[in-house]
Amino acid sequence: MQLNETHDPSLTSWVDSANTPDTDFPIQNLPFCVFRPRGSGQAFRGGVAIGDRIVDLAALGSALDGASQEARDAAGLAARDSLNDLMAAGPQAWSALRLALSRLLRSGATPRPHLLVAQADAEYTVPARIGDYTDFYTSIHHATAVGRLFRPDNPLLPNYKWVPIGYHGRASTIGVSGQAFARPRGQTRGPTDAEPSFGPCKRLDYELEVGIFVGRGNDQGEPIPADQAESHVFGLCLLNDWSARDVQAWEYQPLGPFLSKNFATTISPWIVTLEALAPYRAAWQRDAADPQPLPYLDYADLRARGGLDIELEVLLETATMRREGQAPARLSQSNFRHSYWTVAQLMAHHTVNGCALNPGDLLGSGTQSGPDAAEAGSLLELTVGGKQPLTLPNGEQRVFIEDGDRIVLRGWAAAPGRPRIGFGEASGTVLPAR
Ligand code: CA
Repeated sequence: MQLNETHDPSLTSWVDSANTPDTDFPIQNLPFCVFRPRGSGQAFRGGVAIGDRIVDLAALGSALDGASQEARDAAGLAARDSLNDLMAAGPQAWSALRLALSRLLRSGATPRPHLLVAQADAEYTVPARIGDYTDFYTSIHHATAVGRLFRPDNPLLPNYKWVPIGYHGRASTIGVSGQAFARPRGQTRGPTDAEPSFGPCKRLDYELEVGIFVGRGNDQGEPIPADQAESHVFGLCLLNDWSARDVQAWEYQPLGPFLSKNFATTISPWIVTLEALAPYRAAWQRDAADPQPLPYLDYADLRARGGLDIELEVLLETATMRREGQAPARLSQSNFRHSYWTVAQLMAHHTVNGCALNPGDLLGSGTQSGPDAAEAGSLLELTVGGKQPLTLPNGEQRVFIEDGDRIVLRGWAAAPGRPRIGFGEASGTVLPAR
């Protein structure tokens, strides 16, 4: 992915709120969503963030008349009620639309405020029809810390450094930021229980993840080579893989997670394209003593720029904080550059056996815990399996998530001489069990 005029750090927008240093959405970002004016009952349609506004892609009319045919075609696809058709159109179409929108919105262009909707007045939906959802396990720090809790003598299984571990999740309960859901109920068996019992989950947790939206898919039997894999990725979002740890501990052997993971998954409304992230690449990190990837997981750009420098954080707002007007408390901060496997490796591995991916499919990165214990991406790790409660700034304590708690994920990329670009947030609230 080459840098081009859309990445120029000196670009500003006629939308003033896009030019403030703390915005997630300067003109160099231009992430996609699907939205409508809140409460309007109108059709959902594609939008692009600029400052605190959304460019309504269904309202462009003649605004792109000076742009390329490819950009105008892509804008038509992006105006639909999901982004699947835009995702299927491929990276040239995405890039042409990005260039046209950058030129439309930059300072010096004719201001067109009638194209904009305030984000504060919008409601969002899941931005694609997600046919399939797969969750990976790419943080070796998370895998080791969780493995130690479940298997103290054997924390990291021998396959971890060779094969990207994942499982097939469920798309039906993926929701967009703002999602609220009832605490799940399920079957659990504690370490001292003679028999399992059924009831509300007692060890409800979040997982701090990055979501990867597939763009162009592949035909069954036609693997995506690692060196072409990024051209099949539309972009990234934030993803919270809510997890019922007590259900998980009882059900996970021998086939892995099932009902402990599929009652809710919350993503950010915004998808940041790989093109927008091009200035924020990172070297792929791996311990020198670890095995090198097998050839199908190796590619020319892997070591120099296979990673992505995306700061990630988790905040908790309890019902008390909300009632008393206190700011959410940060629980941890981590970075996607610590991931043991890259986005391209996940795409290559997922398809190497002939499995077909389709536009709008979603891959989760797995919990992104960093090397330091304070960088853990779940409460399971931060409380050492529920044994060490966290004390919040207002004096409240947490071991796992309580009813009324809202978990907020945030993410952003920054680099010297570049604007900070953000992912917005993925927030979800846990309601009492039904
Ligand atoms: Ca997960």
